[in-house]
Amino acid sequence: MTCVEGADEVTGNTGALVTVPATPTTARDAAEIARALDVLDDQRGNDLVAMLARAVELEQAARALGNVELLWRARLVRADVFERQGRLAEATRIMWQVHDYATDHDRARLLARSHLGLSWAFRDIGDHASYLEHSVKALDALDDDAPPSMRAHYVMRLADALDESGSIEEARARYTQAEQLAVEADDVVRRLRCLNNRAYGEYAAGDFALAQETIDRLLDVSARHGMPLGSHVWDTLARVQMGRGDHAAAVASARRALEENGNLGTREITADAEFLLTLATALRLLGDHDGAQETLDRCRALSDAHGLRYRIAQVEEEQAEIHAARGDHERAFHAYKRFHALEKALVSEEREAQARLQQAMFETSEARQAAARFRHESLRDPLTQLLNRRHVDQTLPGLLVDSRAQGLHLAVALIDLDHFKRVNDTFSHAVGDEVLVQVAALLDEVADGVPLPGSAFAARLGGEEFLLVVQSATGEAVVTYLEGLRRAVADHDWSALTHDVPVTVSIGLAVSHDGDTQRTLLARADTLLYAAKHAGRDRVATDPSD
Ligand code: GH3
Ligand code: MG
Ligand code: MG
Repeated sequence: MTCVEGADEVTGNTGALVTVPATPTTARDAAEIARALDVLDDQRGNDLVAMLARAVELEQAARALGNVELLWRARLVRADVFERQGRLAEATRIMWQVHDYATDHDRARLLARSHLGLSWAFRDIGDHASYLEHSVKALDALDDDAPPSMRAHYVMRLADALDESGSIEEARARYTQAEQLAVEADDVVRRLRCLNNRAYGEYAAGDFALAQETIDRLLDVSARHGMPLGSHVWDTLARVQMGRGDHAAAVASARRALEENGNLGTREITADAEFLLTLATALRLLGDHDGAQETLDRCRALSDAHGLRYRIAQVEEEQAEIHAARGDHERAFHAYKRFHALEKALVSEEREAQARLQQAMFETSEARQAAARFRHESLRDPLTQLLNRRHVDQTLPGLLVDSRAQGLHLAVALIDLDHFKRVNDTFSHAVGDEVLVQVAALLDEVADGVPLPGSAFAARLGGEEFLLVVQSATGEAVVTYLEGLRRAVADHDWSALTHDVPVTVSIGLAVSHDGDTQRTLLARADTLLYAAKHAGRDRVATDPSD
């Protein structure tokens, strides 16, 4: 299929090459190198030789800085160029080295990037199992704050891998997601790539109407944004034209794809093999058997020379078709036999790939859900489901800084149930627990009612002691919330639980001053709580100087 992998093609039209940024002569800092690598990573440079030179030069700059991560990133760009030049052994060796380094040093993005490179290399050699596996792992390794444009790229890769393994439904969902991410990132080039690959996927799945619809959408988007069509789009177009029987147009489009690829500084070998096959098929359908044979021979030579197994199987299939079209049925039969043998091997690998993929997807989503669950649980109180003391310790210091910066008041209120022992002793511990759960719910309601720009959360510190943290525009408003809470608890209908034993809370409310820390703030609230208890309970104690 004509996956627009890295990117080049859409922008690579007649002479209008997107060139690799010029080499600055001065020494560069890490940020500058990283930015240059971002550009290369996105592979919008078309000239492979220039890209290679740039990657080598950035690698040297990274080494001079002693920045190992940037060094490996630069090497990955080099590996990508090798891959597209058909130098798969060299490419794969580097990708594995980066993979190992990233694993050992816990570099998520570098790891994701190495999986992405590996997925592509495995696709070239026809190892669909590994292609899928690395596409899944690439997306999985990507950190949560990766920019949408980058994520779109990874999701699209997974869509391609699914599509080529025959999971068109799964692929469609990913193509849609990738396109949405591209739109969100305002990345037209990426969006066109999604549409191109999707159109090809629909064509390959035999749904010519959907393929046409998708390519129409692509043409519309590219026209609206003044974007020229790149070589891979011409190839897809050729396929779609063949699908609807317009063979002359298909020949022209396939030639255009080859021409665009030739306009690059160096031809992309793997893409060339692909486009030659398209052209051979289109020529045969048009009735030009000699032209088809000659083109196919070129495709075979290229595919053989670079070990493109997937393509070689397709070459045999097309060879059989050409022989058959010429009426040479015996040779057609032998070519078909070769094709079937090659395809059988690839298909059995594909089946294995699907099984492995499902397993991998299951495991990663399971692992993620489990991690999220553990995280949720580790910060929650199991009885009331309120946040716990660990959460308070993690967030309060940051909230202090944040409130100061925003000019908001940060108040902490310590809330303690009055004579709670009595509830436990008179009824049961279970009734006591239920009272705690209901007080927690009332607390949550107050926290939820705090209007923007403020915010609030409730936590259970332990036993029958709670904390409400409120960030608010005014200090008076906070007193009102807490007074409301006190009344809500006292007025709540407890009769079903505690009959005529009242349930009330005492509250110590402290508002932060400059120089306050979590410790000093909580200590003041604690003193005030003690004062509230002494003054007769069921009340809010504040410091007049707050
Ligand atoms: P005060 O008004 O002075 O706060 O009186 P109190 O009885 O609430 O205070 P004290 O600290 O003497 O007792 C707290 C009681 O809270 C003791 C314990 O039995 C009860 N308690 C603590 N944690 C839980 C819990 O998780 N469930 C239940 N049911 N009771 C708890
Ligand atoms: Mg108490
Ligand atoms: Mg207590």
